[in-house]
Amino acid sequence: MADCLFCKIIAGDIPSTGVHETDTTYAFRDINPQSRVHVLVVPKNHHEDANELANHPNLLAALLKAGVEVADIEGIKDSGYRFVFNTGDDACRTVFHAHLHVLGGEQLTDFGR
Ligand code: AMP
Ligand code: ZN
Repeated sequence: MADCLFCKIIAGDIPSTGVHETDTTYAFRDINPQSRVHVLVVPKNHHEDANELANHPNLLAALLKAGVEVADIEGIKDSGYRFVFNTGDDACRTVFHAHLHVLGGEQLTDFGR
């Protein structure tokens, strides 16, 4: 999608620090990390959010698998990590290209309200 930030990152038109890549996914460091390790895993094809990804279960599985591989690469697979899909206004989602947050590398706090 022409006006999508993450589509531009995937195309290489906006710089990113890549961590992991497959045929269908790309993972890069979040520009405003919320924990010592904060990586975003995105589908290379544009899908708006987790609601849309639910129609593509193979891609959803590929994103989760890539997230686990990112955790391994970052050395947090055993210490613990958090996967987050922010979806919709109540979750404060800001980028309209589905992305899996991989957070960890230190003790995370509770989250919610
Ligand atoms: P969300 O609030 O779930 O939509 O998350 C969007 C995430 O994208 C935020 O954590 C931002 O810090 C991150 N972000 C925004 N622009 C960039 C960028 N150019 N490179 C890397 N991460 C970004
Ligand atoms: Zn996009």
